[in-house]
Amino acid sequence: MKEFREAVVIGGGPAGLTAGIYLMRAGIDALLIEQGLVGGTPLKYEHVENYPGFPEGIESRELMERMASQARRFGLVIKDLFQVSEVSLREGKLITRAGDDEIESVGVIVATGTESVAIDIPGEADFMGRGVSNCATCDGMFFRDLDVAVIGGGDAAIQEGLTLANLARKVYVIHRRDALRAQKIIQDRAFKNPKMEFLWNKVPTEIVGKDQVESIKLRDTKTGETSEIKVDGIFVYVGSKPNTLFLGGLVEKDQAGFIITDENLLTRTEGLYVAGDARRKSLRQISTAVGDGALAAVSLERYILETR
Ligand code: NAP
Repeated sequence: MKEFREAVVIGGGPAGLTAGIYLMRAGIDALLIEQGLVGGTPLKYEHVENYPGFPEGIESRELMERMASQARRFGLVIKDLFQVSEVSLREGKLITRAGDDEIESVGVIVATGTESVAIDIPGEADFMGRGVSNCATCDGMFFRDLDVAVIGGGDAAIQEGLTLANLARKVYVIHRRDALRAQKIIQDRAFKNPKMEFLWNKVPTEIVGKDQVESIKLRDTKTGETSEIKVDGIFVYVGSKPNTLFLGGLVEKDQAGFIITDENLLTRTEGLYVAGDARRKSLRQISTAVGDGALAAVSLERYILETR
């Protein structure tokens, strides 16, 4: 099917949904496409407490449902479970391909965020879904009263370690250095949690098991000493990489693949903007994604009005 829209938003997380709200309120004919279910990265986390306006915090799922229903209230059409394979340029218009569909538009806002990075050790891929996971909020319940490990020392690892500590018997935090990267408030909570044990200066080398994960082998980064601990589940949080491959040469990227934009979030292709975690930036939070979504939408609105 071929269709024309003034704007296409790719990605249904906080940046994409905010862009959708702003575009619809500006009277722009926009369509939002999401490869999974609307909500984006926050759905991997249980609770959000640093997004302003919710003094007691809010469940991530509820926050994202509210953003989506706000966008729909202004008439945004959201196509979920719909994967974009390519964005290209044809006679000054952007062409977004998804399955057999082709959508021609004046502008596109890419808000595709990031996906989890793997540690790439033996056993990780084999046991994915059989003890290895990237989402404590999704899979934590399978480890009630069992022992689990989280790998990484950033916000995701420590926050999800705390989520797991509500269910599991013990949570090992395996980190390659002797200091965490996570925000201090999250660190302080983790250090006080009696179920959390920190294994400093350790990197995982192999995940071992028969049908399910049974243990993880570690190497000390200072001494080279090896060890093995028995765990039932392993949650990998060693960072994320941007979902930007489908853009080909339309955008300039940094070494890690994050898209470089100007201060109005325009890429090097006219009409093509990027909002949220997929963009090169120094802070990746729901609040900064929302700010990006608003700015990209207003920038695109101005461009569309010039070309109408
Ligand atoms: P991150 O901040 O990049 O942290 C990744 C962690 O994994 C680091 O501690 C890093 O160690 C470690 N690591 C990287 N490669 C490794 C490897 N090969 N082996 C072992 N360890 C490795 O990633 P993230 O925690 O997924 O967070 C991504 C973004 O989302 C961040 O900007 C974060 O602030 C944001 N976020 C925010 C919240 C929140 O505000 N509540 C929650 C989740 C995520 P080093 O420290 O030694 O580099």
